[in-house]
Amino acid sequence: MSKLRDPKVILSAEEMPTQWYNIMADMPNLPAPGINPGTLEPLGPEALQAIFPMELIKQEVTQERFVEIPDEVQELYRLWRPAPLMRAYRLEKALDTPAKIFYKYEGTNPTGSHKLNTSIPQAYYNKQAGIKRLATETGAGQWGSALSLACSFFGLECMVYMVKVSYHQKPYRRSFMELFGAQVAASPSNLTEAGRRALEEDPDSLGSLGLAISEAVEDAASRDDTNYALGSVLNHVILHQTVIGLESKKQLEKVDEYPDVVIGCCGGGSNFSGISFPFLADKFGGRKIRAVAVEPAACPTLTKGVFAYDFGDTAKLTPILKMYTLGHDFMPPGIHAGGLRYHGASPLVSQLYHDGTIETVAYTQNEVFEAAVTFARTEGIVPAPESAHAVKGAFAEALAAKEAGEERTILFSLSGHGYFDFASYDAYLGGKLEDIAYSSASVQESLKKLPSIK
Ligand SMILES: *Cc1c(COP(=O)(O)O)cnc(C)c1O
Repeated sequence: MSKLRDPKVILSAEEMPTQWYNIMADMPNLPAPGINPGTLEPLGPEALQAIFPMELIKQEVTQERFVEIPDEVQELYRLWRPAPLMRAYRLEKALDTPAKIFYKYEGTNPTGSHKLNTSIPQAYYNKQAGIKRLATETGAGQWGSALSLACSFFGLECMVYMVKVSYHQKPYRRSFMELFGAQVAASPSNLTEAGRRALEEDPDSLGSLGLAISEAVEDAASRDDTNYALGSVLNHVILHQTVIGLESKKQLEKVDEYPDVVIGCCGGGSNFSGISFPFLADKFGGRKIRAVAVEPAACPTLTKGVFAYDFGDTAKLTPILKMYTLGHDFMPPGIHAGGLRYHGASPLVSQLYHDGTIETVAYTQNEVFEAAVTFARTEGIVPAPESAHAVKGAFAEALAAKEAGEERTILFSLSGHGYFDFASYDAYLGGKLEDIAYSSASVQESLKKLPSIK
């Protein structure tokens, strides 16, 4: 036996999960039902059928513990899955911590983030339902890239509304989507009612995810051949992302490990849920384990928002969901982690936070980038700015373990790479990143506009 340490935990294709895990089978309180924005009555499946295929609507509400992953989806997953699970030996040494740090790296696929785990099944179910075209929004460009590639695999057209601040910050993300055949518009655009209205109010609007969602939903609702696809927040998206945690669990079993704490960054909540929910299944069964969602201090949905019914978008076209929110027209500052600039959070994550099952923490961008650079220099991977929040969360746990002089096994989700994000790294290295505080006044203003639902 070699005495050399190997940081990779190997899993074969045969050992990959064949089912997704549905936390709704196990959580003590289900999320409150969605509300139809038109009638203010509970949302029926009919309302969703204008923009989603039936299989995804079923997955949105099912309480079955496991859902089969279709063979075609499993085969496409095999293009890059199982994703690497790594022991961060060099990072542990740099932090001089007694903690063991593992990370699940979702950046090895062609689009560079975990989002391909859900764009593939979403394109698959839409194709099965006879849909020809998908419309979506993208914040930083990772979701748009993932959907573009999935649409290209299944021969679907793809229309992407890209938040304007990212469209200009990350031009190569646009090229990437176009290479895979997608049409990309900077949002707010003049292609939709919602976009035109926003441009009238503020021609220099930087855009927001909430606004781009309005554009994509309007596009999808106005065309019979087109459905809408969302890259986070919804139950079916989170269901698909549980492959991350299911694989991680099997990988950790191989090395006789089980995490004390599981960490993910949280924008809409999908990668955090993906890595943590299969472990929370054990927590509901009595096992001791913590899950920590990390968000940016500039857009602190969970740590500073309210738990209330709100719209998912600026133009109030989406179903009204019970979630932590900063208000649907809250315009987050243009921080570099574009994928975390969302006013709301997944109803599943929100409910679990409300019930005290999970924990949250927020960090400012300079401390996040500082952690990312240390991670890059020790582990050799440049994290996406979003993922860097989870890196910072793992640092905090590792240092807390050191201070307490105790062992701790940490698992975090490295949700994507940052190779399209060098403008942000340049800004950080050049000392030009500002720690923009969130404005509690503008949140208060935005919260006045919450819909009143009994
Ligand atoms: C989109 C994205 C996120 C944030 O979305 P979640 O749904 O909260 O996971 C985080 N990391 C990366 C790399 C992303 O692309």
